[in-house]
Amino acid sequence: MTYVIAEPCMGTKNASCATVCPVDCIYEGDDQYYINPDECIDCGACEPECPVTAIFADDSVPEQWAQDTQKNANFFSPAVQRTRASNNRAAT
Ligand code: SF4
Ligand code: SF4
Repeated sequence: MTYVIAEPCMGTKNASCATVCPVDCIYEGDDQYYINPDECIDCGACEPECPVTAIFADDSVPEQWAQDTQKNANFFSPAVQRTRASNNRAAT
């Protein structure tokens, strides 16, 4: 199990969650913050800190944000990082 940051973080990004994480596994992305599922120790410290209730245990993510579990994992995937970098180059 891991914790997941869902869509409400977008545009908020106040980083209270990252401040309390004991293993520093919450990372800033362009659009929102992301939790590295391989590093998260499931302590739950971040969840009550979020002012917009964007953080959920992965078995409690609301259905409308279900895809955000994979989105958090993808953020840390080297293959996806490479794809995104090349897409960015193509767009510029
Ligand atoms: S559950 Fe704990 S370890 Fe996981 S991201 Fe939140 S604060 Fe960090
Ligand atoms: S506390 Fe909530 S809004 Fe702020 S960065 Fe963390 S998940 Fe995003």
